[in-house]
Amino acid sequence: MYPDLDELSDDARLLKEEVHRFAAEVIRPASIELDRMKPEERIKRNSPYFKVMKAMKRLSYHKIHIPAEEGGLDLSPLERYIIMEELGWGSLGLATAIGVDQIPFVNALLFGPPELRDLVNQWLNDKECKYHGCWGVTEPEHGSDYLLCFRDEEAGKFGKGNVVAWKEGDEWVLKGQKAAWISSAPTATHCGLHAQVREGKAIYDGIFCIVPLDADGVRKGKVADMMGMRDGPQGELFFDNVRIPDHYVIVAPTQFYGIFFDQLLCLTSCGIAAFAVGLARAAFEEALAYARQREQGGMPLVKHKNIKLKLYGMFEKIETARYFVRKAMEHVHRKILEEKTFDAFPRHSRAAQIYAKRIAFEVANDALQIFGAYGLSSEFIIEKLFRDARALLIEDGTIEVLSFDAADDVISSYEKDYYDVESIIRRYEY
Ligand SMILES: Cc1cc2nc3c(=O)[nH]c(=O)nc-3n(C[C@H](O)[C@H](O)[C@H](O)COP(=O)(O)OP(=O)(O)OC[C@H]3O[C@@H](n4cnc5c(N)ncnc54)[C@H](O)[C@@H]3O)c2cc1C
Repeated sequence: MYPDLDELSDDARLLKEEVHRFAAEVIRPASIELDRMKPEERIKRNSPYFKVMKAMKRLSYHKIHIPAEEGGLDLSPLERYIIMEELGWGSLGLATAIGVDQIPFVNALLFGPPELRDLVNQWLNDKECKYHGCWGVTEPEHGSDYLLCFRDEEAGKFGKGNVVAWKEGDEWVLKGQKAAWISSAPTATHCGLHAQVREGKAIYDGIFCIVPLDADGVRKGKVADMMGMRDGPQGELFFDNVRIPDHYVIVAPTQFYGIFFDQLLCLTSCGIAAFAVGLARAAFEEALAYARQREQGGMPLVKHKNIKLKLYGMFEKIETARYFVRKAMEHVHRKILEEKTFDAFPRHSRAAQIYAKRIAFEVANDALQIFGAYGLSSEFIIEKLFRDARALLIEDGTIEVLSFDAADDVISSYEKDYYDVESIIRRYEY
């Protein structure tokens, strides 16, 4: 499927083979098993979830965004893309879990004080999944609000955050509740948490901190029982006057908080987009294999013109998405991970995420149609891929709300052709 496969370096080609093997032999079977398990069973230490996470840590895929000199892997944006597409091919739910695992620790390394370095090292060197991250953004009353609050003109009206933070001496206190959909909350040991400062005007006056989930006052709610992405568990987090030391606050309440959040969304948007391309490719491959062997009207399905055209349309969508996502990722990784200027264009990464999510759903839908009634039965994985692709239209921001945010960025700064930081910092009112 890669027309430029022969242009990849030997290292990148080997990497692709290695990650694909991991996705096919470890992730995919575990994801099918997890999908059929009860929510509470999925999160036990002996469940297939932890088998995948331990294997992933042993292969060091949690270090893909970290440079070699910091103890990570020396990867190019293209190599990171290759890994993420393959992980998404294996399972969207488990790929998401591998993605959010990095949020507290990679940000602690990039933006946190030196006192957090020991904790980051423990996570980096962990092979048993003793350190496992999640990302606490959305709240019962603020789902989409969190994605819009830095550019939307009306953001001041969004209301107070459900998790608030205030400083007492050299500690911060956290109180409130995150939404029921925090990926890996039930399995994580640490959360990269967004909280509004108590005296702030709205959720954009916030901090980003790392919270050990065994701290006094933290409580995990029940594991969500969702239609899709059942293999990566989601759940609630409650904070009842939880105290963390000052140096656990990675991004303090300053004007940088909005830029940090916006740029972090650029990074995660590209990751989700690569997972989406992987999921679309998985659905396409299932449909192609099925259409080759299933006979109707005296011939294999692939000989019927409508099926041929469907398969071509799916191929076209996946290929166009892949190259757009790759380019967006190259831009974002250069600005954030290499040059560290934190001025990646949000419009491109949001568009990559929106486009890849949309085509993943369309491709999964067409793939299921090619299977006919078999597509609806749990006998074939296509039914799971379709459910996952549906969840993708909501996970990490609905495509509608992401489009609003991208539109605001396009309108405010398209002609200027630079990152419109002014549209972010005027939100900061604390
Ligand atoms: C599988 C999965 C995993 C997730 N993992 C995480 C995670 O790891 N961490 C985390 O913090 N969150 C996570 N989420 C939450 C996710 O980010 C939110 O579900 C998403 O942002 C949408 O928020 P909401 O569900 O509250 O919907 P709402 O914000 O209530 O939106 C409901 C509907 O209204 C529309 N809408 C909302 N606001 C506006 C507006 N201003 N203008 C016009 N239309 C609007 C939306 O498009 C949507 O159709 C996850 C969700 C899922 C499904």
